[in-house]
Amino acid sequence: MKTRSTLAVGSIALDTVEAPAGRRENILGGSATYFSITTALFSPVNLVGVVGSDFPDEAWLLLKDRGVNLENVQAVEGATFRWGGRYHAGFMGRDTLFTELGVFEGFKPAISEGYRSPDIVYLGNIQPRLQLDLLAALSNHPLVISDTMNLWINNSRDSLLEVLAKTDIFLINDEEAGMLTGIADLAAAATDLLGRGPEAVIIKLGSNGALIAEGGKRTHVPIYLDAEVVDPTGAGDTFAGGLVGHIALHGKDDLLAAVVTGTAAASYTIQGFGLEGLLSATRESVMVRASVVAQTME
Ligand code: AMP
Repeated sequence: MKTRSTLAVGSIALDTVEAPAGRRENILGGSATYFSITTALFSPVNLVGVVGSDFPDEAWLLLKDRGVNLENVQAVEGATFRWGGRYHAGFMGRDTLFTELGVFEGFKPAISEGYRSPDIVYLGNIQPRLQLDLLAALSNHPLVISDTMNLWINNSRDSLLEVLAKTDIFLINDEEAGMLTGIADLAAAATDLLGRGPEAVIIKLGSNGALIAEGGKRTHVPIYLDAEVVDPTGAGDTFAGGLVGHIALHGKDDLLAAVVTGTAAASYTIQGFGLEGLLSATRESVMVRASVVAQTME
C-alpha cells in the first residue's frame, strides 16, 4: 500500500474552553494540532506552524511522541495563538470569547528542503493569506484539502475565495457554508461552492453528520451515535485528520470511506476536554467505530 505524505498548516493553540461539564484554561489545541495528531495515526504528517516562547515543553513533546514531524514549526519570541470559546447548553452553538493571533501575526511559513513536494496538503483553519503562502512555497501540485472558519469568511473573504479556487476537497460547516455563499439551502450552497473550484465539498453538520457533494452526487453520512459530548472543540479538525489519513493510505477515490473514517475519529475528540478523548484513540479503534458508522448507512 502506498502511503502518501501530508504537509499541514493551521493553528497550534492554547485554548480556554467553557462547557457544561467545566472549564479548562490554556490547554493544548489548535486546528493543526487536532488534525496532525489524528492523521499521524494513519500516515506521516509534517506540520508547518509557529508557537511562542510560552508554549509548554510538554505540548511539544506530546506532538513529537505522537509522531508529528515538527521540523517546520517555528518557535519564536512572543505569545502562542490563543482561543477561548463557550458552548451553549445542549451544545447548541458556541461563542468565541477571544482570538489572540500572537505569533501568527508576523508568521511566514518556511518549509525546509525535502518537504516542498508533499502528496497531500491540508490547509487547516488559519488566516487564508497564510494558507496561500504555504501553497506558494511548494514545488509541486499536491492534492489540496482545506478548511476555514466564520472569522475568515467575515475578515478575509477574497483570500478565502482564492484558497477555494486552489482546493480539491473543501471542508466547511453548515453555518459557514451559508455565510460564505449567502445561500441557506445546504444542497444549493454545496453546488455554489463546487462552482468555485473544488472537486468535492464536504459540509459538516455537527451532530447531524456530514454531507458530501461531488459532481451531481450528494451523500449524507451520519455520526457515530455512542459517544457522549463533553467538549466538541477540534471535532472538525479531527474529522479532517481522519479523512486525510484515510486518503493518504487508500487514495481519494472512495471519499465516502474517508468521510466515515473522519466521522469515527471526531467521535473520540468530543468525548473529553481538549485532546483527552482523541489521545485515547488508536488507528484500530477508529476503524472499529468507522465500521459501525458504515453499517448504519446500509
Ligand atoms: P473546531 O472546534 O473544529 O472549530 O476547532 C477549534 C480549534 O480551532 C481550537 O483548538 C482553536 O484553537 C482553533 N481556532 C479557533 N479559532 C481559530 C481561528 N480563527 N483560526 C485558527 N484556529 C482557530
